[in-house]
Formats: sequence, structure tokens, C-alpha cells
Amino acid sequence: MHSVKQPGLLPAISPATGKKLADIKETPLHQVSESYSRARRASSKWSDISITARLTYLKKLKSVMVDEMDSIARTISDDTGKPLTEAIVADIMPTLDSIDHIIKHSEKDLRRQKISTPVLLFGKKSFIEYMPRGVVLVISPWNYPFQLAMVPIISALAAGNSVILKPSEVTPLVGKCIEELFAQAEFPQNTVQVAHGGKEVGAAFTKGKPDYIFFTGSVRTGKIIQEQAARDLIPTTLELGGKDPMIVFADANLERAAKGAVWGAFTNSGQVCMSAERLYVERSVYPEFLQRLKEEVGILRQGTGEEADIGSMTFPAQREIVRGQLEEAIQNGAVLETGTSPAEWGDDMFLPLTIVTNVTQDMKIIQEETFGPLLPVVPFDSEDEAVSMANGTVFGLNASVWSRDMEKARRVASQLVSGAVVINDVIISVANHGLPFGGAKESGIGRYHGSGGLRMFCHEKAIVEDTGKNAAEIQWYPYRGKYPLFLQLFQSYFKEKRDWPKFVKSYLALLKRSK
Ligand code: NAD
Repeated sequence: MHSVKQPGLLPAISPATGKKLADIKETPLHQVSESYSRARRASSKWSDISITARLTYLKKLKSVMVDEMDSIARTISDDTGKPLTEAIVADIMPTLDSIDHIIKHSEKDLRRQKISTPVLLFGKKSFIEYMPRGVVLVISPWNYPFQLAMVPIISALAAGNSVILKPSEVTPLVGKCIEELFAQAEFPQNTVQVAHGGKEVGAAFTKGKPDYIFFTGSVRTGKIIQEQAARDLIPTTLELGGKDPMIVFADANLERAAKGAVWGAFTNSGQVCMSAERLYVERSVYPEFLQRLKEEVGILRQGTGEEADIGSMTFPAQREIVRGQLEEAIQNGAVLETGTSPAEWGDDMFLPLTIVTNVTQDMKIIQEETFGPLLPVVPFDSEDEAVSMANGTVFGLNASVWSRDMEKARRVASQLVSGAVVINDVIISVANHGLPFGGAKESGIGRYHGSGGLRMFCHEKAIVEDTGKNAAEIQWYPYRGKYPLFLQLFQSYFKEKRDWPKFVKSYLALLKRSK
């Protein structure tokens, strides 16, 4: 299905049809150092302009995106095989919404903040300043190739950095589209550069010593990048994989929970870092819930275009991971409730939506990220058991808890080791740009979105100001005769009930000795 790659060119292949859509020129490895030089020159100019001026460019970008929305959606859909509706709802909308959020909040979030100063630092004022880091390298994956590149890029830009994007080689058309959008929005030259290519290009740019690396992708690559970053002491954010549990209690709205499970597991053909990958259902409603799941799956349409619910898989290698997990589960006694065994799959990239039961906690289908349309369903008998099974993997990105008893749902949510938990819905926490986004355990390091997602692209600088009027400070030399006075000062200050008269007396005595 996939044509041979020509040297220097990245073929963009439609996973839905197998047809070649275009060839994108790869960035040669010898250009890494020149790209960084250009990015550094651009970053010094870009960081010099006010946030208000930077936001003018983001507003222009937003308006270009609104005008070009249909064509961007079609590019995303062609390049990934996902339905058009998913391209517009889950790739384009969150990007536009994050631009709005940044336009609304960044001036406040990035301005100098006054911080209270302790009495012991009498006469001084304290501030935090946010200084752009310089050049940010963004490395992005293929599953939401637009949103997961654009949101870090625009956050880093708003914070005053220039950006080099290394988009996924699996979806090179989207990388090209992003490059063109910034050109159309007339960003200053080299403020955003796109390095097209595969993992060699990603590795070369990682070694090129950016000032910050923002990586979204697999745990495996995240660890490689973190090793290189550690060698060069470069700060990173790693947004990695997930194996998100969904816990359904017997008292949940079961109709809603079944629809939510099917969408949560199968949207984007399950190629979502936060898709519901393990479904735990309270035993008393387990048979009924399974029946509901099968009915919901039965009404979905696979295909392309505006009417499709489920698209194709995007990356051929991912299909093999799904196959491997399913085969292992079947060999060990798992039962297919929907779908077919891999031996019956066709050659194309449309995989059947597969619900599997009779699985055990030690199977790959429960322990490893699937990133495909597979949903194992497991019964549980108690709240504790559900929490323990949900926490029983190396991942912790997102989770969901379903119950009408909000107290119980909140109690369970608090016990899950997870970057986010959604109650009576799935995935959606990512859509509130005001909430932090990121993973626990092997699902990642760091958080973005919200104020933290802008400030992380800055050096947080502590500033203390003194008027400079006094000749010296009390803790400066000479120390002669000061020890008993400091003893009095600190004892009067730190005791349960402060002794202000003693404090003032010892402070004035120290001042006198410091003239
Ligand atoms: P991947 O790790 O294979 O590739 C991601 C990016 O890293 C690509 O651009 C790739 O070219 C680049 N890359 C690969 N090797 C590299 C290296 N040695 N040095 C530098 N760059 C390198 O991941 P993928 O298959 O594109 O994406 C799927 C994975 O991403 C899944 O595990 C999924 O869970 C994860 N993901 C996480 C989030 C999140 O926000 N936590 C979101 C989406 C996807």
C-alpha cells in the first residue's frame, strides 16, 4: 500500500485509500545548526516586542484559520484517515479555543507579578518576572497532528520564544499546512520554522541545544529525548502515552455511560492518548452494560467524509500493535463481544471496533497502550477493587468515573493516580484550556495549558528591590556582638505568639550595629 520513500522526500500517503497525496521536502540534517542560528536571531527580535504586539499576530493567525477551516479539516482528514467531524471538533476547535484563551489571559499571566515580602526582609519589595527562554523545540505526534503541534507553538510564541516544530513524519501534510498558516498570518521570518522529517531529524534537532523541548509522543521516544535533554540540561515537558481506565458504578446513568464508553474508546479509531482503554463495570450491571455497548457499536458507520463516525487507523505500525495485543488476549482465553479476530481482518487500515471480555489484569491488552479500537471490559465487586485495578498500570494520563452519587465519584476520582479525572464524561478535561494538562507516572512530566502552560516557556525570575538608602544590612559583616541580638530577634519572631516589642528592640539594636 505504501510507496517506497525517495531520498529527501517524505511521502504523504492517505491511510484510508493508500494513495499518495504529495511529497514533502525533508529538512536536511546539515541544516540543523543554521535553523537554530535563524531561530535565535528571530527570538531576540520577537521577545523584544510587547505581548500586545505578539497577540496581534495570534489574532491574525486565528482569522486565517477561521477562513481556511474547511481546507485545514480536509488536509487533516486526508493525512490521518480520521472523519472530517473529528478533524474539526478535536483538532481545529481546541486550537482556536486555546488562541482565544491565550489572547484573554497572557498579558495578565506574563506581566511582572508583585509578591509579598516577609517582615524579616524589611524595606524590600519582591517580584516575579517572566523572561522568554529563547528557542523552543516542539516535537509532535500523528494522532492529533494539528492541535498537538499548534497549542504548544502558540503558547511558546505568546511567551516570547521562537519555535522550531518537528511534526510527525506519518502526517507530513499537516506539518506543511502549519508552516503555510504561519506564513499566511505573516509572522516575522523564522519565528516559526518547520523541520520536516522522521526520527533522525527529531534526534538531530534535539541535539541542537534548544532552550526548551516540548515533546508529545510515545513513552519510548520520550525517554530517549529526556536522556539527551539531561545531558545538555535542557528543560522539557513530556506528554506521553496513556491507558485510561473508565469506572462505571451500578448507579450510573447506564445509557449515557455506554454511549460515553463507545465514543471514549473509539473516537479517532482509539488513537487518542486519553481514550478509554480499560472499562471496569460493577458486576451487578455488567451483563446489561455489555449488551448496551454492543448496541451502541452496532450503529456506527466506518468510512471517510462527512457522514463517517469512525475513520481508518493512521499509522500502519499501530495496526500491528493492536493485532499483537488482541492475539495475545485471545490465546489466553479472551472473548470477542464485537469485531473479529485479526486473522479475519482485511488489508486496509479500517479495523473492526472490538469489545473484549474475559481478560485478566496481567494481559498486554490491560497493561500496555493499545492506541486502536480495542476495548477490554472487566467486572468489579467493590470500590476498592475498581480503584486498585484502575491504578494498576504504569500510566496515569486521564480516567473517568461514572456514578449518580457525586460524593462517591469524587472520592474515587481523588484516589486515582492520574493527570486528570472526568466524572460522568470522558476525555473532555483537555477541552478546558484553563485546566492543567499532563500525565502522572509514565504518562509524562510537566503540565501545559492555562497560566502554567505559558509560564513554563519562560524563565521565572525572582527580583528583589531595595531602595539602597541604608549603608548596610543587619546580616552583613561585621558579626561582632550580633549573635545575642539575632537570637532575641528570631525567638521573638518565630514563637507561637509573636513578641513584637522585643522584635523591634532587637532589630533596632542590630541596625545600629550595621551602620
Ligand atoms: P512517537 O514517539 O513515535 O513520535 C512522536 C514524534 O517524535 C514524531 O514527530 C517522531 O518523528 C519524533 N521522534 C521519534 N523518535 C525520535 C527521536 N529519537 N528523537 C527525537 N524525535 C523523535 O509517537 P507517535 O507514534 O507519533 O504518537 C503516538 C504516541 O503519542 C502515543 O503513545 C500517544 O499516547 C502519545 N500521545 C500523547 C499525548 C499527550 O498529550 N500525553 C497526546 C497524543 C499522543
